[in-house]
Parts: sequence; C-alpha cells; structure tokens
Amino acid sequence: MENVIIVRFGEISLKGKNKRFFEDKLIKHIRNNIKGIENVHLYQGYSRVYIKSDKKDQPEIIDKVRKVFGIVSLSTAKCIKTEFEIIKETALEELKNRLEQDNIQSFKIVTKRANKKFPLDSMEVSSSLGEYLLEQLGDKIHVDVHNPDLVIRVEIRDKTYLSSNHYKAYGGLPLETNGSALLLLSGGIDSPVAGWIMAKRGVKVHAVHFHSYPFTSERAQEKIMDLAKELSMYIGEFKIFSVNLLNIQKSISEFCQEEEMTIISRRFMTRIAQEIAKKHHFDALITGDNIGQVASQTMESLRVVTEVTEMPIFRPLIAFDKEDIVKIAKDINTYEISIQPFEDCCSVFLPKRPLIKPRLDFIKASEEKLDVEGLISEALDNLKEETIEFELE
Ligand code: ATP
Ligand code: MG
Repeated sequence: MENVIIVRFGEISLKGKNKRFFEDKLIKHIRNNIKGIENVHLYQGYSRVYIKSDKKDQPEIIDKVRKVFGIVSLSTAKCIKTEFEIIKETALEELKNRLEQDNIQSFKIVTKRANKKFPLDSMEVSSSLGEYLLEQLGDKIHVDVHNPDLVIRVEIRDKTYLSSNHYKAYGGLPLETNGSALLLLSGGIDSPVAGWIMAKRGVKVHAVHFHSYPFTSERAQEKIMDLAKELSMYIGEFKIFSVNLLNIQKSISEFCQEEEMTIISRRFMTRIAQEIAKKHHFDALITGDNIGQVASQTMESLRVVTEVTEMPIFRPLIAFDKEDIVKIAKDINTYEISIQPFEDCCSVFLPKRPLIKPRLDFIKASEEKLDVEGLISEALDNLKEETIEFELE
C-alpha cells in the first residue's frame, strides 16, 4: 500500500491534439510549486497526475498544488493492488478511521472501473463493497446515496486508488498557455483579483503600478510589493514596473480643469502602460475596473480612457458585484493587504467633483495644453523594473 495524492486536471483533458502542450505546462507548474519538498515522485495517468510523498508532507503538498491553475481537484488516496479482498479491507480500514475522526453518519461508494479486466463492473463493486461495510459497521453508519456525509471513491486501474476526501482547486488553464498581459495594479481590492482571474485562464500576467512619490509614501510602495508577492503564489514569477506620475499630475493640475484630473490621469496611465506592454511584447492590458463603481468607471469614462489605446484592455471584473470580488480577494489572501489604509496616487490630487460623464472632444482639447509626448517619455525614462520571485511560504 502506498499513499499518493491524486491531482485531477480540468478542461485541458478536452484539448485534443494540444493536450500534451497543456499537460507539460501544468506538470512544470506542479513541480515548481513543490520544489524543496523531499522524497516527492510524480507520475502521470490519464488526465491526472499522482504524487507519491511522505504522508506527513501531504497537507503541505495539497495546499501548494491547489494553487496551480488547470487543476480541478485533489484527493489523498491509498494505492493498492487490484484485488477485491484487498479493496474491501482497505475500504473498511478507511471508514473506521474516518468514523473515529469525524462525525459521520452516512456514506456512499462511487466506483470507476477503468480496468475492464477486473471481473466486477462498477455497480457490482459499489454494491458488494457497501454491503460488506454495512455488515462490519452497520450499527454506526448507514448508506445514503443522495446526501452522504462521506463518499468513498474507488478507482480500479492497473492499481486501485481508494480515497475518502476531495479538495477543490481553481480550474482554469495552466499559466503561460494564453499569451501575456500587463495588469494595472493599484493598492485596492479589485486589481489584484482582476490579474488573478486572467492568470487563471492561462495568461502570463505582469504588472505596472503608478505612484506619486514623495507625495505617496514608501510604505504605500511596500504594500504593492506585498500584494505582488501574494499574487506570485498563483501567477508565478513576474515583472513589476513602478512609474512616478507626479509630474504628470502637477502638469494636469496646472493646465486643465480640476474635475478633469481623474480622467486625464487615467488616460496617461493607460498610454504609459501600453508603451511598456509594447516594449516587452505583452499582448494586452488588464484593469480592475468595475462599471459604476466610481466616477472613473462610468460607461462614458471607460470609453474616453479606452480611446487612447490600440491594445485590447481586459476588465474581467466589469460586471461583478463588490461582494463577489471581496470573496475572491479573501480566498487568495490579498484582501487584508488591500484594505491597509495607504494613500494612492489618485487620492493625492483627487478633485472635489470628478467628471462623471466626460466628453471626449473636451478632454482632447484640454490635453492639447499639455506636452503629452514629453511627459510620457519622461515618466518612462524614470520607471523602475523589478522581478517578483516566485514565492511559496
Ligand atoms: P482597485 O480597483 O484595485 O480596488 P482602486 O479602487 O483604488 O483600486 P480605481 O480607482 O477603482 O482603483 O481604479 C480602477 C482601475 O484602474 C484599478 O483597478 C487599476 O487597474 C487601475 N489603477 C488605478 N489606480 C492605479 C495605480 N495607482 N496604479 C496602477 N493601476 C491603477
Ligand atoms: Mg476599484
């Protein structure tokens, strides 16, 4: 008997001819997430991977591998010989253990027989196994096929895998299978979630952050780095660019109307992000915009901002409710960092009444008073580039 972890792949099993490409990426990311843990051995099965390791390391491995996109679920399992007597005894032992640990009153058996040489079919395995367990432990437990407290899964292959737990993972597609994009990462709740969602579809995500140092503090910068580190546990190693927006904001404040500050600075951020993306051959931009959230995110504002780019801008949270964004932020551990109260560059020159329905022609006319090209190249000349190392605690 051996202890293994079964790692189940999701959508990539439907990828036909490209399946190999997706599986290789996925396995690379699994290996990467658990490097450093000793005595680990991976082997591949149909649309899944098995991880052999010391039993004590299993919780840590599950926690780390669960963060690899492309995986739908994991279970710890006992890998045994495909012989019915052994299957029965192992199932009995498993059920006894679970009864001792948890408050379980009902169970069901789910059998999958991939090995057609095995003499009993799935239904027969489930029913004889169920009967045997009831004979042994019927005073403590009953069968409930609709709503059981415990599911015992039996997978009959060359070897047989028996498991009684199921850890959900995030699904999606493996990283680096769908191009790359530059995330506009603010210190708020939304943008880290937006980047995470795009990475979950296989996009390689890098980030740009705008600050107004020294008007914004160094601690505000550290907050961004903390967010980036947390994200790296899912999205792997990535580049982060820091751009100082202060001179641009000063110039807008001097030459344009106060209420235009938010929209014009957003247009500058987008232009600068596009330049960085082009230089590094990223395919698109990502923001945490959410329709109706604040003045810069009305339909009119989004249109006026989008107008400055040729590059696609992905806004995966556009129609989410805040509650649902917060739920994801908490799940991926960015929420507690995001709610730390450090000033953002946009709060430094925040107009009293920002334009809610900006008009493109008026905004363009205002920008004529600025040296748009010069301000952008100055900002780009001074940008700082860092690599966020892939970091797992
Ligand atoms: P978040 O949207 O992340 O909660 P926020 O609410 O402070 O942050 P908004 O004013 O809602 O930011 O801005 C919408 C989007 O614009 C952000 O999700 C982010 O993608 C981008 N953005 C705003 N400020 C910055 C910044 N300082 N640096 C990089 N991107 C920014
Ligand atoms: Mg927001």
